[in-house]
Formats: sequence, C-alpha cells, structure tokens
Amino acid sequence: MAGENGIVDCLVIGGGPAGLTAATYLARYRRSVLLIDDGRSRASLIPESHNYPGFKGIKGTELLKRLRGQAQEYDVAFETDRVLTLDRADDAFTASTRNRRVRARRVLLASGLVDESPVIAGLDGGGDGGTLRYCPICDGYEAMDRRIGVLGPLETAGAKAIFLRTYSGDVQLFATDLDKATSERQRAFTQAGITVPGRAVSVVRHTGGVAVTTDDGGCWEVDVLYAAMGCKVRSELAVQLAAACSDIGLLEVDAHQRTTIEGLYAAGDVVADLHQLSVATAHAAVAATAIHNSLPHNPR
Ligand SMILES: Cc1cc2nc3c(=O)[nH]c(=O)nc-3n(C[C@H](O)[C@H](O)[C@H](O)COP(=O)(O)OP(=O)(O)OC[C@H]3O[C@@H](n4cnc5c(N)ncnc54)[C@H](O)[C@@H]3O)c2cc1C
Repeated sequence: MAGENGIVDCLVIGGGPAGLTAATYLARYRRSVLLIDDGRSRASLIPESHNYPGFKGIKGTELLKRLRGQAQEYDVAFETDRVLTLDRADDAFTASTRNRRVRARRVLLASGLVDESPVIAGLDGGGDGGTLRYCPICDGYEAMDRRIGVLGPLETAGAKAIFLRTYSGDVQLFATDLDKATSERQRAFTQAGITVPGRAVSVVRHTGGVAVTTDDGGCWEVDVLYAAMGCKVRSELAVQLAAACSDIGLLEVDAHQRTTIEGLYAAGDVVADLHQLSVATAHAAVAATAIHNSLPHNPR
C-alpha cells in the first residue's frame, strides 16, 4: 500500500516474528506499511522450537516463511535493506537506507539482538541446537538429565547454570573470568550443585558431545554446551534518538510498547523483556493496535 504524499503510516524496521506480526496487524487495520529487513532474524537460527504455542515442533525458517506469507496476503510493502539512520522532525520520521529515504508517521523498531559468539579455540560460534546452544528457556527441556556445560562470564553464565539445574543434576560452569570468583560465589555454586572447573581454553565438538579443556589441565566431557557470552542489542537507531534503555541497550517501553520517543514503538527482543517468540508476537499485536489507535481515524 503506497502511503499518501509519500509518507507511510508505519515503517516497521525488522522482519523477524515481531516485525512480521505487526505488519499483518497494521495492514489489517488498513494502514500503509513498509517493512525493511536486513535478513538476520534470530528465529532463522532455531533448529526446531518446542515451546511456541500451537506448534509441537517447528523450524525457525519455516515459522518465518509462514509469518511472511501471512503478511504478504495483505498490502504490506517489503524491502530487503538496512535502515542506517532514523530522524524525527515535524511529527514524522525520516529513515534512510543505502538506497533511499522513507518518511513515516510512526515507526516500529523490531530489530532484535545478536548473540555474542564465544571466542575460543574449537568453537565457530554457530549454535546447532544439538551440542552448542544459546537459550536454555528455549531448549533446556531437551537437555533433561544430560551432562550440561555453560561457558561465559560468571555473572551471565552463572545465572544460566543455576537455571539449567531445573533439568539436570550434572551442570558445569566454565567461567571465562574465573579470577573474579570470590569464595562466597564459589560456595553459592557448590550449594546449587554446580561444578566450577578451570577456565576453558579449547573446545572440541564431536558426535554426541563436547570436550572442554581447561587451563588447569582438566578435560571435561559434556553432552550439551550453552554459550552465555551476552548479546548486542540492535537498538542503535532508537538510542541515537535518545530513547531510554538499559545499560546494554534494551529499550524501555510502556504497556502500549511506546518508547520514550513520541511515535516510536518497539517490540520483540530489542525490548527489555523475556526474549521469546510468543513475547515478540504479543508485543507486536499490542504495538500495532496502539499505533493504529494513535493515527487519524480511517473510516471506510
Ligand atoms: C538458537 C536459538 C533458538 C531459539 N529457540 C527459541 C524457541 O524455541 N522458542 C522461542 O520462543 N524463542 C526461541 N529463540 C528466540 C527467538 O528466536 C527470538 O525471541 C525471536 O526471534 C525474536 O524476534 P524479533 O522479531 O524480536 O527479532 P529477530 O527475529 O531477531 O528479527 C529482527 C530482524 O530485524 C532485522 N534488523 C535489525 N536491525 C535492522 C536494521 N537497522 N535495518 C533493517 N533490518 C534490521 C534483523 O536482520 C532481523 O531480521 C531462539 C533463539 C536462538 C538464537
């Protein structure tokens, strides 16, 4: 749907589950929508999801295909590109990509985040859903009673290790900053039933498992290794406009998914909330409805 006077009702930045769901809702509210996506959805890395409501098991790429197909049934304009800048003036936004400039009355930022890959010999960083994983909430259940390793800084990896005790009595924490492990912290991990060996120096993935070598000369076999290295939140376009965010860039929103910048909404992993498919699509439904209600009435 072409916008009037060269301005679209809503520019959606990001074509993952959040952006695609919002585009469908907005088009069904008869709003002009342009979705720009540079094709790096976290959902495309999901080998098979088992906790997405209504699906017993679905590959991430298949879910994206279905969400995109649904949006394509309506009048949504799609572009494969990257939004490089976003400015706001006179109650409207101007976004620029390598190829063009777009004006929009509202913007929904659904740009997600990128997991940091472990930099360690033997790991290429690619999660495979089997031996190397990123998200215990997503697939911890599938690691039930397995030998689980968690790799990363004490703060983030420690929390993941404790969470993973829900599923297994055999959890090892390979801290990358072991020098920061106070005796109090060590005690807390021991009490939680978590082993903290030396610092991991190399990892060998083999059929059915991972061998982790530590700097104290130890070698540990685990069935599954979770990386917990943090992430890069793709909120830079909002942050440049001075939107409020957490120390790592997760955007603050209100109950209508409004950021602190008027007319700028956010949904999905880019927001400070649980980073899950169902949350991303729920954010999108709320945001799209709030955007529709904030625009001038469009009676038939
Ligand atoms: C290995 C793995 C397994 C997972 N398993 C599950 C699971 O089983 N269940 C579950 O609920 N969740 C799972 N997740 C989490 C789930 O993938 C995310 O919560 C979900 O994809 C978030 O959707 P989103 O639309 O917010 O972001 P994304 O899916 O990451 O989409 C964001 C999109 O925005 C684009 N983008 C960013 N910046 C720009 C820009 N400037 N211009 C244009 N485009 C831009 C990106 O390229 C990307 O395509 C898993 C994640 C991983 C990594």
